Amino acid sequence: MAFDLTEAFLTDTPVTVHQEMLAEAYQRSLRSPDPNTKVGAILARSDLTRRRTHELGSGHNCLPTGVKHTHERWHDRETKLRLVVHAEVAAVMDAAIGGRRTRDSIIYVSQTDPTGVFWGSPPCVRCAVHLIQAGVRAVITWPPREGVVSKWAADHEEARLLLQEAHVFLHVVPRP
Ligand SMILES: [Zn+2]
Repeated sequence: MAFDLTEAFLTDTPVTVHQEMLAEAYQRSLRSPDPNTKVGAILARSDLTRRRTHELGSGHNCLPTGVKHTHERWHDRETKLRLVVHAEVAAVMDAAIGGRRTRDSIIYVSQTDPTGVFWGSPPCVRCAVHLIQAGVRAVITWPPREGVVSKWAADHEEARLLLQEAHVFLHVVPRP
């Protein structure tokens, strides 16, 4: 079962492999025009025999391609929430555009603030339902930000339960 393969991959793969992929997700997050939280995601396929991963797609939180970047769209919270494509979904779309299979994939997610401080978290509920539906088997991220209560805390908790219910692993990797 793919479920078991993913669990083996997560535990058997050297932590540095996960850290390198998360560093790539961090680099990707820096491309986000979001003035607050920038998120980067790398969708990957695991290669159990060689204990490494292949990138399938990547994304950052952005407006849809071709949609104009206006001050209001990025600075009015309600407008932004309605229009923004989250990094996780953007990475799945990127794989789809390139014709790469998302079933049994894993996704690396890194969040960054404008000063470059990075941390991890579960995806939001909207991303979680789409990741589950795309056949993603694991979400891999950094530890959460210490001492900061996110506005998204309740949403993240609901997402965590949904991922668990759908047998998608949430795997936290220590910072290098
Ligand atoms: Zn999201």
